[in-house]
Amino acid sequence: MENSKEMRNWLDAMNLDHPLVIAGPCSAETEEQVLKIAHELKDTDVNYFRAGIWKPRTKPGMFEGVGALGLKWLQKVKKETGLKTATEVANKAHVELALEHDVDLLWIGARSTVSPFIIQEIADALEGTDKIVLVKNPVNPDLALWLGAVERLANANIKNLGVIHRGFSTYEKTKYRNIPEWQIAIELQQKFPDLPIINDPSHITGKRDMIFDVSQTALDLNFDGLMIETHFDPDNAWSDAAQQVTPSSLVQIMKDLKIRKESSAETDYNVELNTLRAQIDVIDNQLIETLSKRMKVADAIGGIKKSQNVAVLQSNRWNEILGKMILEGESKGLSEEFVLKMFKAIHQESINHQEKILKA
Ligand code: PEP
Ligand code: MN
Repeated sequence: MENSKEMRNWLDAMNLDHPLVIAGPCSAETEEQVLKIAHELKDTDVNYFRAGIWKPRTKPGMFEGVGALGLKWLQKVKKETGLKTATEVANKAHVELALEHDVDLLWIGARSTVSPFIIQEIADALEGTDKIVLVKNPVNPDLALWLGAVERLANANIKNLGVIHRGFSTYEKTKYRNIPEWQIAIELQQKFPDLPIINDPSHITGKRDMIFDVSQTALDLNFDGLMIETHFDPDNAWSDAAQQVTPSSLVQIMKDLKIRKESSAETDYNVELNTLRAQIDVIDNQLIETLSKRMKVADAIGGIKKSQNVAVLQSNRWNEILGKMILEGESKGLSEEFVLKMFKAIHQESINHQEKILKA
């Protein structure tokens, strides 16, 4: 698959003066719920009304969606509000039913993207469709797997494609439900600058009060749109209650976001600069994260040294690290002087940490 300007045709044709917005509940629950939310979203910036009909749940016995019945409600949404509709499809039967009910945008969930068999089945069922198909990133941070799924769809002659960045599973304790790993989305944008990319802050954060910040980062990184789960009574939603926002909060979020104007033909200096700065911010945060992880390991070493009554400073080990890092740095375009200074500072901080443990 190669990047081409045509990848953006479906989005450019919409001629939006704001990022694409896909909003609606995590799950369709009842006909009344679906229609009430849709009516509240009607005269806003929302372009597509989303609702999950078939829900991939971690454990059996949780609410697994209303099934095909919900597709009739989506048809009503379109008729009554004029909003276009979107739902998740995860197999051939879903695709056939969604197409029969004229759903406008189909997305493939994170749990499906990991399976080439399922993606191929969906691609075959969608062959040649002019519906919009968006591929969520796989649950694991694997860009090749994500792009492989897009490629299978492209090979099935599906033209109106895009991706949704919804973060990645991790066993680590973090403030996110699914860590963003922005660098993966950035790499995808660098490889396919014209493939529309939508951010899903709801599934990244898992918490409604973090949605604004993640959305702003996404827009600063030049994402094309947002998918935000919206419900008139979020706390009582049948799935993903903590992360859904009300229609009026969604409107407020959209109002507060700093939306940079698109410059399509010529690359505007400021747009480019802001994008690069946002990338630097992401990397700087990762640096701090990595350094803090390193110090935690140093603390653990401090604990062992204390129990064995061993001195903090082990100069052989230190010289060995330094030598290796200078070579490694040089191979990556970093000067010896810089690597030396940086590692001295890191080493000093490690020693301070270990001293503290020894004295405790
Ligand atoms: C969803 O959008 O409701 C959903 C199930 O998302 P994901 O596949 O990102 O978990
Ligand atoms: Mn959800």
